Amino acid sequence: KKLGIALVGLGSYAGGQLAPALQETKNCYLAGIVTGTPAKEKIWADKYNIPQKNIYNYQDFDSIADNPDIDIVYVVLPVFLHKEYTIRAAKAGKHVICEKPMALSVAECDEMISACKQANRLLSIGYRLHFEPFNKEMMRLGQQKVYGPVTAIHSSNGFVYGGTDNSAWRLKKKLAGGGPLMDMGVYVVQGARYVTGEEPLWVKARQEKTRPEFFTEVEETVYWQMAFPGGCIANCKTSYNENASILHADAPKGWFEISPAYGYGGLAGKTSQGPMPFPHITQQAAQMDAFATAVRTSTPSIVPGEEGRKDMKVIEAIYRSLDSGQQEKV
Ligand code: NAD
Repeated sequence: KKLGIALVGLGSYAGGQLAPALQETKNCYLAGIVTGTPAKEKIWADKYNIPQKNIYNYQDFDSIADNPDIDIVYVVLPVFLHKEYTIRAAKAGKHVICEKPMALSVAECDEMISACKQANRLLSIGYRLHFEPFNKEMMRLGQQKVYGPVTAIHSSNGFVYGGTDNSAWRLKKKLAGGGPLMDMGVYVVQGARYVTGEEPLWVKARQEKTRPEFFTEVEETVYWQMAFPGGCIANCKTSYNENASILHADAPKGWFEISPAYGYGGLAGKTSQGPMPFPHITQQAAQMDAFATAVRTSTPSIVPGEEGRKDMKVIEAIYRSLDSGQQEKV
């Protein structure tokens, strides 16, 4: 039997990526939804054939505990709600996937990890790129030192945040935890960590603002360096003022790079020896199928809460460095 997933928060990622991907999954399916918008209930129910008994709102959500159709709750809410809904889902006896960035702080990550442990449920983070062939090849080339130990990385991830309306949750410090660093920079932290297979020792960061009247609460562009124990230095950038998506690594015997690196599709890669020949896959389907297998076999997620916590630790150090202007230990 396929495991049942309930999506919590029917915004652009749930509607545009996760629900379509759940039409391709082999080990799990879209069994339920949790929404605060009554109008979405009927639209989703009709489109995805979801029975009324599997539709919840934020008030009656906890009664999902009594619903055997739902095995996994997938939290796709703004960041400030990740902790609350992950913990409520675990307490309802459900396994949890929580979107990135995992939470507002390392302290919140700790609460989420321990709640899931206490409930004896698995916790996974929505790190789709761990299941994507080009990114997996970057992990292999880096971690297995195919061209020798990686000495330098450069990576950037961002998009141009257009318009004049800055009321969205992504631009509110309390709701998003920060700006592009939380939203897009987390992929760059991930990329450097999974190419080296190491945790950074220290970071040093600076920021730039061209539209201070728009980015009133959060950063617009951040540049940072990360130093890894094996000697690699990563030069990183994230921005709401530049369309960018690249992950490049240099080693003594060659280089390897993917660009675009972090999107849902159209990724491409090459090494100093030639192009990387990988197929396009639906990353979210692979990610959710892998988690369903983990649940079924009681094995840890490939991208557990601990992985999300490691990134938050680095991100907190980057914010400390932006404040202090100094190198900060991770
Ligand atoms: P969104 O704004 O499109 O959707 C958020 C949803 O949460 C909306 O349906 C909104 O109605 C609902 N919501 C419930 N309570 C809310 C409240 N108090 N304030 C605001 N919204 C509330 O956002 P999104 O782009 O779908 O992002 C949702 C999550 O998914 C975020 O954590 C984001 O980082 C993550 N995400 C991940 C990826 C990825 O590639 N893994 C891509 C996009 C977004």
